[in-house]
Amino acid sequence: MTSAFIFSDDTILCHQTSDGWWPLPVQYSKSDVDLNNDAYPQAYQIGHVALLESLALIHWQTTASTDHSDVDIRPTFTAQASSAMSYDYAVAHHVALPPVNESSGNTFVPYRQLILQLPVALSNQLSQAIQLLRWQTDTRFCSRCATPVIHARNAERAMVCPACQLHQYPRVQPCIITAITRPNPQTGETQILLAHHHRHGQQKQPPLYGLIAGFVEVGESLEHAVVREVAEEVNITLTDIRYISSQPWPFPTNLMLGFRATYAGGDIIIQEDELAHADFFDLSNLPKIPSKGSIAYELIAQILTEQGFEA
Ligand SMILES: [Zn+2]
Repeated sequence: MTSAFIFSDDTILCHQTSDGWWPLPVQYSKSDVDLNNDAYPQAYQIGHVALLESLALIHWQTTASTDHSDVDIRPTFTAQASSAMSYDYAVAHHVALPPVNESSGNTFVPYRQLILQLPVALSNQLSQAIQLLRWQTDTRFCSRCATPVIHARNAERAMVCPACQLHQYPRVQPCIITAITRPNPQTGETQILLAHHHRHGQQKQPPLYGLIAGFVEVGESLEHAVVREVAEEVNITLTDIRYISSQPWPFPTNLMLGFRATYAGGDIIIQEDELAHADFFDLSNLPKIPSKGSIAYELIAQILTEQGFEA
């Protein structure tokens, strides 16, 4: 027997515990789901993926850097799921699923909601599952010659065209996100540059302010992407650019690369089609910032902690 997380798009089958929703690993026998069986009807090939065991909680438990490590809900999560499948796929393969209804305490919960409360290792494994399942769904034909693709025969994670041999791999989109600081010109207090994006919505009050972020372009280094995005969005120049940490973000397949930098010069002029407002804010008087669990929060929290503020 082995276990799998069950997905329906970006939602995961979870069980209600006293501490919140937790992913429910479903037990199945390997013979139920045999990935190497080429006899499967094409439709059934969509929806089962193997996950990196090294991302599973058991490998990270002692070092998982999460504020939730001391929360006593881990014992309720005992299985180290090493695979994931879509709900439709599980049904098609007659995998015994737990009841999904209010009285069972089981339901599908959006990943965006879970990420706030899960340990990093588990969260990353779910993120990987979402991206791989979507990749399978979206990669059914050769993009060069339009022949239906098949799974690579070895353990390679690729879809292969039987006609022209083109290999299609899961795509990761690198995306930089930067926390820019400077001393307040009047008081010397540390300030951070925050921007209110149009995509965050104009109606919501109070408005949400985030960091400058954007996709890395073809042919660009990460550092160049930081400089370019900041120049494009707020017209300022930077110095002391340094990498801090990264986070996989499966909406749709981003790898967020977190940087910090120091303001060097220039007046803020916002790119109006992306931003509604941007400014340097004193750490003692921040607007509403992104939720815990996001790399934006982690970068801002790191600066707050360094300067003696509570994150
Ligand atoms: Zn082809």
